[in-house]
Amino acid sequence: MVDSPHMSNGPSVGKTAGAAAAPAPDKTGATEGPWRRRSERVMLGVSIEVTATDLSGVRFTESTHTEMVSRHGASIVLSRAVSPEHLILLRRQLLEQEVGARVLGQLGIRAEGPVYGVAFSSEAPSFWGISFPAPAGDGEGLPRVLLMCGDCFRQRIFALNEIEFRVFEANQRLAHPCESCAKVKAWTPLPNKGSVGGMPQGKGPQDRQFQRTKVKMMACIQAPGVEGDVVQVLDLSRGGISFFSKLVYEKDTWINVSVPYTPGSANIFVAGRVARKQAVGDEFYEYGVQYVKG
Ligand SMILES: [Zn+2]
Repeated sequence: MVDSPHMSNGPSVGKTAGAAAAPAPDKTGATEGPWRRRSERVMLGVSIEVTATDLSGVRFTESTHTEMVSRHGASIVLSRAVSPEHLILLRRQLLEQEVGARVLGQLGIRAEGPVYGVAFSSEAPSFWGISFPAPAGDGEGLPRVLLMCGDCFRQRIFALNEIEFRVFEANQRLAHPCESCAKVKAWTPLPNKGSVGGMPQGKGPQDRQFQRTKVKMMACIQAPGVEGDVVQVLDLSRGGISFFSKLVYEKDTWINVSVPYTPGSANIFVAGRVARKQAVGDEFYEYGVQYVKG
């Protein structure tokens, strides 16, 4: 990541609906956004051993694989949620190579567990054994975003490499060390400028009310430990869904959603992030979920 004194035209970070939970059959690295150049990132399952720290502070090592690799890092499947505050170690056993990396945020959810975007903490261009195109000097050409530390509200312009960009685009936030806080913090767009949390914009409360009375549809939610939570849909839009459930899904965690849901038929699940969680009475929660690109 490169600090930049310039503010250039940043990427469009609007939401796109309907990403499939499975990896896209994307061999070229072509995608929406600025990362269109061939082989900037490569969909490639590389066996690696990862040492990381889970959310309860327990250090663990497991053998797993990447889904995508790039000059700056990878997306990797892990069996449990990990803390972005601790460095992780990536090891290619056969080559006896090891590199440190930081967890930037979640990029997906699979049956085995969450998928994380990770960035090498030092340059390691040959770690994957692939020749990537040389990066532009000084972060030139990288998408820039103005983000704010969620704790001290310090603002900074980030020039995002391809992994950081994907994580930011999917979560509207990025885990990154804050110099003022001297810790890894969640960096988000400034309020009212981007769309932070909540449902897609452009709907007043009245529109929303109207939508809710119109929709009577069931959806099915899958999450780690939850095979199929069939829920009542409250509101549906291209970018997301809101629903009632008795189960607890924490804010900013990822779930899989199938809507409309028909029991017994082949339902398609897409990944989404819990953007809003609100208790309704003693038994229910109302959730707002935004779809994320797989
Ligand atoms: Zn801070």
